[in-house]
Amino acid sequence: MGKENLKGEIKGALDNGILQGALTRFANDYLGSRARAYEGRDFEALRQEIADRKSASAKRMLELAQQFKKNAEARGAKVFIAKNAEEAKKYILDVALANNVKMVIKSKSMASEEIHLNKYLEANGITAAETDLGEWIIQLAGQRPSHMVMPAIHLTRDQVADIFSKEINERLTNDIPRLVKVARKELREKFLSAGMGISGANAAVAETGTIAIVTNEGNARLTTTLPPVHVALVGMEKLVEKLSDVNAILECLPRSATGQQLTSYVTMITGPTPANLPDGTIGTKEMHIVLMDNGRTTMKDDPVFSNALQCIRCASCLNVCPVFQLLGGHVYGDVYTGGIGTILTAFFNEFDTAGELQNLCIGCGRCKQVCPGKVDIPGLIQELRNRYVAKKGMPAGQKLLLNSVLPNRKLFHSLLKVGSKAQKPFVSDRKIRHLPLFLAGFTEGRSLPSLADKPFRDQLGTLPKPKKVKAKVGFFGGCLVDFVYPNLGKSAAKILKHMDMELVYPLEQACCGVPAGHLGANDAFANMAKQNIAAFEKAGVDHIVTVCPTCTNALLNEYVKLLANDPQWAQRAKDFAAKVEDFSHFVATRTDNGKTLGLKVKGTDTVTYHDSCHLKRGLNVFDEPRALIQEAGLNLKEMQWSDRCCGFGGSYTVQYPEISQPILDAKLADIQQTGANIVAMDCPGCLMQIDGGLDKKGCHAKAKHTVELIAERLPD
Ligand code: SF4
Ligand code: SF4
Repeated sequence: MGKENLKGEIKGALDNGILQGALTRFANDYLGSRARAYEGRDFEALRQEIADRKSASAKRMLELAQQFKKNAEARGAKVFIAKNAEEAKKYILDVALANNVKMVIKSKSMASEEIHLNKYLEANGITAAETDLGEWIIQLAGQRPSHMVMPAIHLTRDQVADIFSKEINERLTNDIPRLVKVARKELREKFLSAGMGISGANAAVAETGTIAIVTNEGNARLTTTLPPVHVALVGMEKLVEKLSDVNAILECLPRSATGQQLTSYVTMITGPTPANLPDGTIGTKEMHIVLMDNGRTTMKDDPVFSNALQCIRCASCLNVCPVFQLLGGHVYGDVYTGGIGTILTAFFNEFDTAGELQNLCIGCGRCKQVCPGKVDIPGLIQELRNRYVAKKGMPAGQKLLLNSVLPNRKLFHSLLKVGSKAQKPFVSDRKIRHLPLFLAGFTEGRSLPSLADKPFRDQLGTLPKPKKVKAKVGFFGGCLVDFVYPNLGKSAAKILKHMDMELVYPLEQACCGVPAGHLGANDAFANMAKQNIAAFEKAGVDHIVTVCPTCTNALLNEYVKLLANDPQWAQRAKDFAAKVEDFSHFVATRTDNGKTLGLKVKGTDTVTYHDSCHLKRGLNVFDEPRALIQEAGLNLKEMQWSDRCCGFGGSYTVQYPEISQPILDAKLADIQQTGANIVAMDCPGCLMQIDGGLDKKGCHAKAKHTVELIAERLPD
């Protein structure tokens, strides 16, 4: 999908207030239900077990397919291994034709959506009737599913009432029990008259030839038992080695999908069961299992994307995704939606179909945190982006910026000096509240901070120095601290002085490289990594700190991965990373959570704390800044969803301001609800976004970096 089309789809979704209301309500309720459903369960242990077992099975996918075939056929089923969608569809059609089937009933199956099976059967004269309530609703509405587990989540009960009214030619109200009754009556007739049932499966067990189906409505039991023929269409990623592999999946699937401890029905089928035959007698039914590849073995053989085969299709990644919560699933343009959908689409449909879609991900990492299969969704989306850029190339302007401007601090410095002068007519009180002409959009929902009159690197001579130096601490500024928020660097120097440590700022340091990496330009990212490693090696520092978690994450984790295969740099990257730490963590762990700093309690400020995505989920730091804030005598009042993204995402605010803005608005509402007069955070990017939003809305709360709050309360 091209960017223009996608922008059109986004606008349609954003203009649909009903959709967003439904998604937000569900998302908020879901978080509570999910947390309750996992109470007393060790989620980390469970997901590790799923990840280990699914990954071991995926590695043996083809071997397990043969073992499954042998064991299922020994129990009387027929198993067909389909290489692609065409083979799968043709096999199912042939089974239907051979049995003179006029109508099939279906229980929920994303694999059948993936290959557009209904359309194919209808084109060949066979009616396909969905029996899962959500699937039936969207089938009647002529739509695609918008969510893997709740396909009609985008529709309200009023809309469903309209759809059902048309179907039965009777005006219905939005009374849910009545609507369910209508569905039951209409579907029951189809169950009784269909010649074939088609189901999916949540797992296929190689050692027994068993398929496991997890549902809430019982329709899968009717689909698989009533008609004389049953076809199960199963993606090969569902293969597991042993029956015991299914346990952890059954523990997590309902909890992660809908926040239930248990679904209503778990059906295990091993071979054909007795059935009502067309002549009225009871005999043995015909059972076919189609194991479908359609891109799964390509995924298995991919050293990076094989991770996606650990997915159990619970859709919790969609439920927590700030972008999905805002746009729903239809903008993704294919049957698989959200972040994981973008990855599946690239492999099961067309690589290029996922082209622009990967840019929808803001990289907040919330999906990765809740995924029971331990799928690194943001990491895989980044890899998609890298491959897309490698295939299609990058615009010349972007290339110039990443290869020549960002790594060259002198040039960058001079350009920003020019910018600092040019911005003057638009600046008041260090804020740019309106920009003219085509730039107006940048200041629509938030003010921008002005560029600093004097970058941090030009103020090094004024930094406080300790009398005795216990350690030399290298400070990595990053672009925002150096050129927009030099006060954060000065505050860090002040705190370090109180710890008898000296802040050392190597001037050769460049941008951390994340903007390049984010755009898929890994060569430029690696060059900046080398430049920064060399700069800090030369400075001979004991520690390296930053006040930006995105930079910390790059310095600590990304450089090691980027340079792992470079014999000259791999070890240097590891040695460098071993010294890197987030600033709040560094201070809290060396000052007994701030106690030895002797902080002064000033006033009666109430602070609420915003957890930056890359700090909490990337670096697992969230207690330390809170401890420092409380030690400084500030009254901490937690906001709802403190770790929900603020919508910044670096260049995301420029690429998709229409998405970034409502995400920011939700964050501002959470902040205001606390009544706090300060919102603290540990990321200059979040600071820019939240401070700008508060300013634009005229809110009384002020945004501050924790480093400023602590430095302001140091004894003289
Ligand atoms: S990627 Fe993870 S969270 Fe998303 S559907 Fe798959 S298992 Fe669930
Ligand atoms: S990283 Fe965040 S924005 Fe991206 S898919 Fe995951 S939850 Fe959605």
